[in-house]
Amino acid sequence: MDIVKGNMGWIEVVVGPMFSGKSEELIRRLRRAEFARQRVQIFKPAIDERYAADEIVSHSGLGIQSECVNKASEVMAKVQPRTEVVGIDEAQFLGDEIVDVCTQLANLGKRVIVAGLDTDYLGRPFEPMPRLLAMAEEITKLLAICVRCGNPAVHTQRLIESDELIVVGAQGAYEARCRRCFETNPALANAKKEGPQLIARSRAAGTAGK
Ligand code: ADP
Ligand code: ZN
Repeated sequence: MDIVKGNMGWIEVVVGPMFSGKSEELIRRLRRAEFARQRVQIFKPAIDERYAADEIVSHSGLGIQSECVNKASEVMAKVQPRTEVVGIDEAQFLGDEIVDVCTQLANLGKRVIVAGLDTDYLGRPFEPMPRLLAMAEEITKLLAICVRCGNPAVHTQRLIESDELIVVGAQGAYEARCRRCFETNPALANAKKEGPQLIARSRAAGTAGK
């Protein structure tokens, strides 16, 4: 978005698995906007109160003041006319309506920065993020590091047994995994997979394939 004329708004989306740095990236962009003396408002779903009710906090401890909303329409109601930049974290919890809200805000001339999980605990597209990606001017996909083998991780591995789409909060309930180490069978999620670890170890030792 290097050439933007007039007061045109737009949508930026930041996606990836848990631990990929979405909140960090969102906070970085919003802080830069604040440094530029732009009027910023930041929202997160009330469901995600893991660290604080009035703050977005990344896994590395970075934080920024935010307002809690229970549904997408509350974002629309709370955004003030003077606000220039709107940040939204964990957008996958705000339902399909968040797509229309972001579109309306961008049409009003606001820069909208949205972060969220693009896939769920089974590796399926996590609505409404795919639709937001389709509507966005700019897309950033981040990867975490697979805790099993150190490769780039595109998946959020659920470690506890639950069929619920949304399970938030529990410490140690999720970890980042690459496509090779990702396990959709909950019974096998915690099982030791020696294959990739052995390969990584033998690579490090220079004995791969020997
Ligand atoms: P997200 O919003 O995508 O869940 P955060 O911005 O909250 O990510 O956290 C990213 C930070 O998490 C990293 O900078 C790093 O300090 C930490 N982290 C913990 N586990 C991992 C991992 N497996 N891969 C990458 N970063 C990790
Ligand atoms: Zn892996």
